[in-house]
Amino acid sequence: MPYPHLLAPLDLGFTTLPNRVLMGSMHTGLEDGRKHFDRMAAYFAERARGEVGLMVTGGFAPNIEGWAKPFAGTLATSGAARRHAVITRAVHAEGGKIALQILHTGRYGYQPFCVAPSRLQSPISPFTPRELSASGIERQIRAFVRCARLAREAGYDGVEVMGSEGYFINQFLAAHTNKRTDDWGGSYENRMRLPLEILERTREAVGRDFIIIYRLSLLDLVPEGSSWDEVVTLARRVAAAGATIINSGIGWHEARIPTIATSVPRAGFAWVTRKLREELRAAGITTPLVTSNRINTPEVAESVLADGSADMVSLARPFLADPEFVKKAREDRADEINTCIACNQACLDHTFAQKISTCLVNPRAAYEQELVLRPVLQNRKRVAVVGAGPAGLAAATALAERGHEVHLFDAAAEIGGQFNMARRIPGKEEFSETLRYFRRRIEVTGVKLQLGRRVGAADLTGYDDVLLATGVTPRNPRIKGQDDPALAGRVLSYIDVLAHGAPVGGRVAIVGAGGIGFDVAEFLAEHPGHSLALDPAAWRREWGVADPAELRAGLARPQPAPAARRITLLQRKSGKPGAGLGKTTGWIHRAALKMKQVEMLAGVNYEAITAEGLWVSYGEKRADAQLIEADTIVLCAGQEPLRELEEPLRAAGARVHLIGGALEAGELDAKRAILQGTRVAATL
Ligand code: FAD
Ligand code: NAP
Ligand code: SF4
Repeated sequence: MPYPHLLAPLDLGFTTLPNRVLMGSMHTGLEDGRKHFDRMAAYFAERARGEVGLMVTGGFAPNIEGWAKPFAGTLATSGAARRHAVITRAVHAEGGKIALQILHTGRYGYQPFCVAPSRLQSPISPFTPRELSASGIERQIRAFVRCARLAREAGYDGVEVMGSEGYFINQFLAAHTNKRTDDWGGSYENRMRLPLEILERTREAVGRDFIIIYRLSLLDLVPEGSSWDEVVTLARRVAAAGATIINSGIGWHEARIPTIATSVPRAGFAWVTRKLREELRAAGITTPLVTSNRINTPEVAESVLADGSADMVSLARPFLADPEFVKKAREDRADEINTCIACNQACLDHTFAQKISTCLVNPRAAYEQELVLRPVLQNRKRVAVVGAGPAGLAAATALAERGHEVHLFDAAAEIGGQFNMARRIPGKEEFSETLRYFRRRIEVTGVKLQLGRRVGAADLTGYDDVLLATGVTPRNPRIKGQDDPALAGRVLSYIDVLAHGAPVGGRVAIVGAGGIGFDVAEFLAEHPGHSLALDPAAWRREWGVADPAELRAGLARPQPAPAARRITLLQRKSGKPGAGLGKTTGWIHRAALKMKQVEMLAGVNYEAITAEGLWVSYGEKRADAQLIEADTIVLCAGQEPLRELEEPLRAAGARVHLIGGALEAGELDAKRAILQGTRVAATL
């Protein structure tokens, strides 16, 4: 059997899970309001069909005080429980199991009714919480218990009590946020009372044959977070209080250390779970322990289970990317898994923008009922797709999957378009997985691929439809002096640097601080061939993550390695460079470049490029140009659509569809490219 540890059943005493895979809780936005229960049912049913062992819903608040935002999903009445039954029935019909996450956000609540152990505003919410009285705390505990009882009434197989990531329960546990002097604060025994009372009373209310997962923060990564002794004590007491499974949480939301971004090494925190598991086993506690964070392939999952880091693995975003992750692993088809690249662009970034979460590599996620790839039974078409970047790949494989005859052309020697540059950025190695997935998908669906073939309009006759996915060309910023033959090799485009490996000097000025400018800066700041994402010890040093047994909450002083070059990153706009980067990842890119002493300049005018470097001025008068000394200037000034084939094809009467960068280069990203490709493919 492939992946023997991953696919081994787990006996919980009163029920058995078919494998060791937990689909971790993700807030998709479908939880909020009443109108999405059918959609959630379809979403979870698709993942149950994909054979995940146990799923956890997005967070539901046990009461109004616990809301993440106004009118957030709440389970507090029997009426609400009846609405949930549509989800549990759909999951059980597919043979799956599902637990409801009880999420009380405490001072993280983005709403005026939020409460907390102490009146301390969090850095991530504009609302100051109300400090709870002792009777207020009692009301919160009862709300947790009621929510669990209602979850059972709704048909759930269990609940997950959210005790990590800096939410309400975590706020009681840590002195960072608990300044109380009554029975709920002060000593750790007092601070621990809240989760223990919730668990004991919940167990009493739901009976023995109901799964209770407790999500425990193993590494707070904030000052005055829990010490390792406290974590171990809590885990023992949580097990004794009736938890069936202990899930692990890493880092509070306000922590300034990345925990799930693509630049975090794979399974980069499994060592902490392993450390706890050893302590628990030594004390004779066998409660299954779940490890999480950046586990995105069956190989990685298998290895952390095989080396004793945990009893189960939690994968969350990988189930947005591919609902059939477990099924494909079981059938030894891991190479067909659409791997989560941990970009956050369509999941967490959407949550923070109040949009429904989906997935960059799988736009059907949470849109299972809307974006359907129906098989064509008749009128099979012959379709040409020009360009094998993300847009063309998504379109071609979806069309072929439906049954059309698809011919895919690309001028380059390999598929992937710009993703071949993206994947060379240190910390973006995961982007290669998307290309591996599409390469295999082309074989499985029978797309007829021709690489190394730049096609013209004359090559595209005889097709029912032509999809132009020809992407973009770099924008020329036309800076005075940039084309001076004396400066040959010193003024480069990002393509010269990333695709062609052009030599770059020790002092670099980068024109344009968009996504590509930032990526180029990270590429040039790192020593060739090195990536922190592939060097977990160096990654921990760089960001300041320590053994929690040595330093409280795992927080150490960051010790960044020196940059390979002196880099200046520039933009014409005033305002923060990188403001357009992802909501949940932009801060990581800015912090990473700061650690490499990259200078970021905004509000510049580009005056000229000379042998000394790049001359810039500020303001409308453009007086007093200043020199940024540079051996190399890299142009990352945005992009323009490449669609020279459109006119001649239309003139010849072809049915032409533009997708991805060929349609619109402004604010283009792979999310839009893949979505457009898939949407067009669904309609032909
Ligand atoms: P492209 O990827 O540009 O592909 C177009 C393809 O068409 C090319 O392979 C080209 O060879 C081919 N072609 C063109 N003309 C012809 C012709 N006449 N005949 C045959 N073939 C032809 N996006 C994100 O979402 N997240 C990121 O983190 C991210 N990071 C990036 C980092 C870098 C360094 C770069 C350069 C880009 C990054 N992007 C990122 C952007 C993303 O890669 C693009 O948005 C995406 O590739 C656009 O897809 P596309 O299919 O429209 O075009
Ligand atoms: P971009 O994000 O639009 O940035 C273009 C940069 O060039 C801006 O800093 C812009 O700032 C500057 N610029 C525009 N016109 C200019 C001109 N005429 N002269 C000089 N500078 C000019 O585009 P990009 O960096 O090329 O990235 C392309 C796409 O890939 C983006 O849409 C991005 O979303 C995507 N991408 C995403 C990521 C990610 O992490 N999510 C990473 C890489 C790429 P000023 O106009 O202020 O100078
Ligand atoms: Fe993973 Fe990115 Fe998809 Fe989110 S959007 S699930 S991070 S691939």
